[in-house]
Amino acid sequence: VSRWDVIVVGAGSAGCVAAARLSADPHRRVLLLEAGPDRAGPPEVSTTFLDALHVPGRTWPDLHASRSTGAPPRPYLRGRGVGGSSAVNAMIAQPGEPDDYDAWERDLGCRGWSWADVEPWFRRTALVLRTAPRAEWGELSRALGAAVPDAAGGVPLTRDDRGRRVAVDAAYLDPARSRANLEVRAGTAVDRVLLDARAVAGVRTVAGDDLEARTVVVAAGAIHTPAILLRSGLDVAGIGEGLQDHPSFPITIRRAVPADPSSLPIATLARLDSSEARHDLQLLPLDHAGRHAPDLAVLVAALVRVRSRGVVLVGDPDPAADPVVEPRMLSDERDARLLGEAIDAAERVLEHPAVRAVGEVVAYDRTPGGVLEGLGDYVHAAGTCAMGRVVDERCRVVRHAGLVVCDASVMPALPRAGTHLPTVMIAERVAAWLAAELDERGRAGQPG
Ligand SMILES: Cc1cc2nc3c(=O)[nH]c(=O)nc-3n(C[C@H](O)[C@H](O)[C@H](O)COP(=O)(O)OP(=O)(O)OC[C@H]3O[C@@H](n4cnc5c(N)ncnc54)[C@H](O)[C@@H]3O)c2cc1C
Repeated sequence: VSRWDVIVVGAGSAGCVAAARLSADPHRRVLLLEAGPDRAGPPEVSTTFLDALHVPGRTWPDLHASRSTGAPPRPYLRGRGVGGSSAVNAMIAQPGEPDDYDAWERDLGCRGWSWADVEPWFRRTALVLRTAPRAEWGELSRALGAAVPDAAGGVPLTRDDRGRRVAVDAAYLDPARSRANLEVRAGTAVDRVLLDARAVAGVRTVAGDDLEARTVVVAAGAIHTPAILLRSGLDVAGIGEGLQDHPSFPITIRRAVPADPSSLPIATLARLDSSEARHDLQLLPLDHAGRHAPDLAVLVAALVRVRSRGVVLVGDPDPAADPVVEPRMLSDERDARLLGEAIDAAERVLEHPAVRAVGEVVAYDRTPGGVLEGLGDYVHAAGTCAMGRVVDERCRVVRHAGLVVCDASVMPALPRAGTHLPTVMIAERVAAWLAAELDERGRAGQPG
């Protein structure tokens, strides 16, 4: 008999939710493994995300991505350690458009994922969501609010009413930590899933330890989950394919008055319509660029309904090596055209007197070559173990009993929003289904 009924790999947005929900039954023994450190203490996560990103060990330091085909690899941000990317993200929490989920069901064949299906699960979240009080908004955020009505009210952020970040570890894991049937083991990177024929038998850590369980939930995020599954030698096609991120184009403003670098960097965003769809363009104001550049603000133009798809590959068989990440953004010509519309919208906003008062726009190149050179991402990686290809509608890996993927990898297409809240919604659903399945197996007298 193994010590664990369920092993959850990765303590990020999805893994913390899954481990907390699954361990609610005291008879179910749950082990949560995380490659990075456990939280050192509250202050690091209460600061701005620009500070949180500099806390040693809290991101994957050598991870790189080539944003567009043939572009040189540049650092790609992913959270590491308990809390995962939710502990370093910009805290914006939006579900996206109802039609994003209707399209998952209607166009991508994911039965049970329409807006009517998912909306109650968004409401169920234990995350605390608040807009920032106006007094905390930086100058560029206020100016964008003046220029675009959609930005005037601010966005929901995962902060409490004292302004402290509420990452998934605080919202979900901390209340569960005292449970005797839950163990959180940080500093433990997983190499691969172990199989007994096609059924799950446990995991092997990068250090070479084998841990047994009949159910493994891989929640290592859209970059590392496919790498783990590719190393595991599964009989499943399509792992790592379909990677999406939201392409962005940052326009820098040299502020007339430098900002306080400990102030809230992002308080709002504007959703705009392109010539093709509703709310598929975003303008995101970054009020300062952190302690090293408090005199710079950035207006980011982004496309949030995308067609381009790339890939995550395992290049080096060493399980400690980072995967190769190629989002191939703008490889679909329509994405390049629509990002151009987002840049047009940003340029109109830059002409608004309130925005002009913030400072001088730093010269930028918006020719096709210049856009490719300046192309940024939105750190919203998703889609690399998509529903309908690698996993079924309950996020179970096809043809491999006991293996579940629970993170942003399973999204069949990116929603028109950040990926944090949608990932938490997915994890809530996957944990509920899995708990019911394990209960059923228990009643039938089968081993966990
Ligand atoms: C800087 C930044 C800003 C962002 N801002 C926003 C925002 O404002 N709003 C929004 O909606 N989204 C935002 N996002 C995206 C959002 O936070 C992520 O999409 C979401 O957190 C992903 O959740 P996940 O569970 O899929 O992965 P993660 O939260 O990344 O969790 C994966 C976990 O698995 C661990 N892991 C990886 N490999 C292994 C292994 N081999 N063994 C053990 N553990 C492993 C990782 O260390 C990590 O802790 C941002 C992301 C970043 C990086």
